[in-house]
Amino acid sequence: MDILITEDLVSPAIEKLASKYKIVREPALWKDSAKLKETIREARVIMVRNQTQLTADVLSAAPKLVAIGRIGVGLDNIDVATATKLGIVVVAPLDANATSVAELTIGFLLALARKIPQGDRSTKVGGWDRKGCTGIELDGKTLALCGFGRIGRKVAHLARAFGMKVMVYDPFIKAGAETGIQLASTLDEALAVADFISTHSPLTPETKRMFNARTFGLMKKGSFFINTSRGGVVDEAALLEALRSGHLGGAGLDVRETEPPTAKIGFEEMDNVILAPHIGAFTTESQVRTFEAVAGDMDRILSGAAAVSYVNMASPKR
Ligand code: NAD
Repeated sequence: MDILITEDLVSPAIEKLASKYKIVREPALWKDSAKLKETIREARVIMVRNQTQLTADVLSAAPKLVAIGRIGVGLDNIDVATATKLGIVVVAPLDANATSVAELTIGFLLALARKIPQGDRSTKVGGWDRKGCTGIELDGKTLALCGFGRIGRKVAHLARAFGMKVMVYDPFIKAGAETGIQLASTLDEALAVADFISTHSPLTPETKRMFNARTFGLMKKGSFFINTSRGGVVDEAALLEALRSGHLGGAGLDVRETEPPTAKIGFEEMDNVILAPHIGAFTTESQVRTFEAVAGDMDRILSGAAAVSYVNMASPKR
């Protein structure tokens, strides 16, 4: 087998690969780690989104694997260090979906500030609640960004166009932010002054549940929290409590601790919470760019050429 696909990945770019390579498509394989370990044994390349967990255990069961094609950019479902040790190249289209995620983030900002979902819901059931839908302007408000990489920078740029002040916390960036953007030396410093907080860091041991009872407590009363990064950076019970108590003014969540959520935990009944099913990268443009970049690299690797969108420096497997 040349290529193993373990999630629901459909794209003309994959059909093009299918005309040249032997592809095994098992869209539900990500749910069964024992079967995944068995099937990956014969694969030269695997293509996944974010559901397949490519742990050290799984990768060690894949002696022929030379590359992982990640349809997306978060790498928390892939043990990149082990892949590197095993000589497996990890490919991810790093810039392909930043614009889409940034635009969704701005969508959350506007929807929360102007209560667009509330207006929609109440008007559709016959209401005309203009007062109840009184919002606030973005102009002049402060947006704190946690993580200032590809997506965070695009969000900053768009937010500045709305007249927002932007404060950034990113432990890897000490200087060099664009004009008009203030760097905070700690997350706490940024949270304390923000009207809106949006997170754009990867999920790592350091960022896991970095938004918790303590950090929500530092946010200004009535501020809004937006997460389009990874559900794991948030302690959802603490967020729920911060919203229930009225400390936070609202939240926009594209990503969740468990996806899809297995139970309703309370956000669903809250008028000031906007939920989305992890659609940050789901635009036509982003999907085309993503699939083409990854499929192009899979083709290059399988035909003996070098990848162009890789994230690790793996020595080639002999
Ligand atoms: P990126 O690597 O370009 O930027 C991430 C930034 O986070 C970097 O600047 C890094 O220095 C910073 N960072 C690392 N550790 C941090 C910490 N402890 N605190 C604060 N900042 C920290 O990645 P990106 O393309 O901007 O994507 C960011 C994340 O967004 C991805 O890791 C992914 O999890 C998520 N994402 C979500 C969607 C979606 O569909 N909602 C789509 C794409 C990406």
